[in-house]
Amino acid sequence: MIFLKSLEEIETMRTANRIVAEILSELRQRVRPGISTGELDGVAEEWIAKKKAQTAFKGYTIRNGSVPFPAHICISLNNEVVHGIPSQQRIIQDGDIVSLDFGVVYDEFYGDAAVSFAVGEVGQSVRQLLETTAVALEAGIGHACIGNRLGDISAAVQERVERDGFSVVREFVGHGVGRRLHEDPPVPNYGMRNRGVRLREGMVIAIEPMVNMGAPEVAMLEDGWTAVTKDGSLSAHFEHSVAILADGPVVLSSM
Ligand code: MG
Repeated sequence: MIFLKSLEEIETMRTANRIVAEILSELRQRVRPGISTGELDGVAEEWIAKKKAQTAFKGYTIRNGSVPFPAHICISLNNEVVHGIPSQQRIIQDGDIVSLDFGVVYDEFYGDAAVSFAVGEVGQSVRQLLETTAVALEAGIGHACIGNRLGDISAAVQERVERDGFSVVREFVGHGVGRRLHEDPPVPNYGMRNRGVRLREGMVIAIEPMVNMGAPEVAMLEDGWTAVTKDGSLSAHFEHSVAILADGPVVLSSM
């Protein structure tokens, strides 16, 4: 069931997502070779309190009985696609690709966004992977208009990614977002135009392409959370929470 949001609720979600964007920017400034992902998680925790928000990811379970996520933010490096668990032992190195996926709850609504970037100098192919994933997200957002179908967003993302020779992950998808972190509808990063649910005013969706340099397949690590590329290739992830309004898509999680 898709929950449509009122303009007032979307205003609250804008606040939640702005907090997410601010904290992501704060964290990004601290990323440098030598810092641990565990330390970044501590910074995220501090800022959640400072902004009078609540943690969204810690304790989250995918299904009954599965391992609760143990941290406030997902930090995925290099061949890790999503859901990397921060750790004091995990030290960021020069040349790493860092993906920060972060959410908060504010006034009962969730904000959710992700960004990827390189630490220091990286080669042209890595820069292209990051650029393509960011642009594919924008392409998807551009189709988040009343009257379109969900497949228009999915196809726009997929086409943009594959045009540059990269692949989209199938096992994880975007989602509706609101009073719950993951609501209907699922928002795949692959699909066909003119298929899927009709987009309506008041829908809020998280569009989040996960893009691999090599093959699309992923494998799970034994921690129960971290997804890595099966072929070991690098991966990037960008995400925005987007409200579908009369005048077009509004990115709630931009700064
Ligand atoms: Mg998400």
